[in-house]
Amino acid sequence: MTDLILATNNSHKIHEIAAILPPGCRLRTLADFPPMEEICETGRTFAENAAIKAKAVSAKLGGWALADDSGLCVEALSGMPGVLSARYAGVHGDDVGNNRKLMQELGALPALAPYKARFVCSLCLAKNGEVQGTFEGCLNGKIILTPRGVYGFGYDPLFVPEGHTCTLAEMPTEQKNSLSHRARVLEQFATAWRKICRGA
Ligand code: IMP
Repeated sequence: MTDLILATNNSHKIHEIAAILPPGCRLRTLADFPPMEEICETGRTFAENAAIKAKAVSAKLGGWALADDSGLCVEALSGMPGVLSARYAGVHGDDVGNNRKLMQELGALPALAPYKARFVCSLCLAKNGEVQGTFEGCLNGKIILTPRGVYGFGYDPLFVPEGHTCTLAEMPTEQKNSLSHRARVLEQFATAWRKICRGA
C-alpha cells in the first residue's frame, strides 16, 4: 500500500483526486496529521507554488506528497490574475470581488475583446522533500463581461471554454469536470502515479 499525502484540505480537490487513484494507494490529507505551519506561496508561477507546497509537506511528514496550484491567465491583462487569482481583489477567496475586478479591468479595454484566457492547473509530486514529477493542464477560452450560470466557483461564470457557447458555471459539474484544466492534469498524474505504484 503506497500512501499519498494531498497537500490540501479542500474537500472538492480531495474527492476529485481520490476518484482517479489506482487500487493499492491510500490517500491521506493534511487533516490526518498534526497542524503544520502555513506554507507561503511565494512562487511566480503555478508550478513553483505547487513545488513549494509538495516539497514542504513531503519533507515534514515523510513519503509522497501531491500539491496543486491553479488560476486564470488573461491575455489582455498580460497573464493576470495568474498566481494572484484567489486574491485578485485583495481578500483570499473573494470570488464576487475577484469577478467584479476582472470585469472592470477588461471593460476598460474594449479594443482587446474578445478576451482570450486560459485556466491552468499545476501539480507537483514530491517524495521526502525532493520533486519527483511536475504536471500541467490548461483550458483555453474567453472571458465575457456579464456573469452567467450558477454552478462551479471562482471565475466560472465569466469563462466560456473554446468550442462552447456557455460558461463553465452554466455546465453541470460532471461536464465541467470532464474538460477542466484540473481533469487534464489529473489524467497525466494518474498515469505517472500508476507506474510508481506498480514499481513501489
Ligand atoms: P487554488 O489553486 O485553489 O488556490 O485556486 C486559485 C484560484 O484560481 C481560485 O480561488 C479561483 O479564483 C481560480 N480558479 C482555479 N480553478 C478554477 C476553476 O476551475 N474555476 C474557476 N476559478 C478557478
